[in-house]
Amino acid sequence: MPRSYDEILEANAAYVAADDHPVLPVRPSRQLAVVTCMDARIAAFPILGLQLGDAHVIRNAGARVTDDVLRSLALSTHVLGVRKALVIGHTRCGLYDPDGAIETTLTDLMGRPPFNQTWGTFSDPEATIRKDCRRLLVWPDRPDPFQVAGYQLDVDTGELYPVVPPTQAEPVVQAPA
Ligand SMILES: [Zn+2]
Repeated sequence: MPRSYDEILEANAAYVAADDHPVLPVRPSRQLAVVTCMDARIAAFPILGLQLGDAHVIRNAGARVTDDVLRSLALSTHVLGVRKALVIGHTRCGLYDPDGAIETTLTDLMGRPPFNQTWGTFSDPEATIRKDCRRLLVWPDRPDPFQVAGYQLDVDTGELYPVVPPTQAEPVVQAPA
């Protein structure tokens, strides 16, 4: 059964009462932003050995590097000091759509995706991670320095498999005035 809102507030009261809430700075201490899927099975901090305050975690359906992810990363990098991005796709993702059935279902229901986006479905998980890392590496507004890596998570074991090794982005070349 879905958890009721009352139960959520009761759980929150217990969380607050545990009194284990350090006051942390707004800047992520590891200078890291993680882009991963909204999948309910991904415990983003524990699988990476991270603690509260260490990293930004930007989640959406499919761990896709969308325009809105770049919006978040603009704040992460240019305001809050992030210098590394990590894209984490995963096995058994809800957007894995080798026969196009999910794409067809969503399009039949809603027509076009909102905000001129795509649905973000994919048939080759590792190629998708490579493509999204590439988008970060050539992001025109990327900071300098900026490092990008991509992993595939086995959602059943929690194991990470490197797909894109840590790669330093080229500095952005400013057009002459
Ligand atoms: Zn997923």
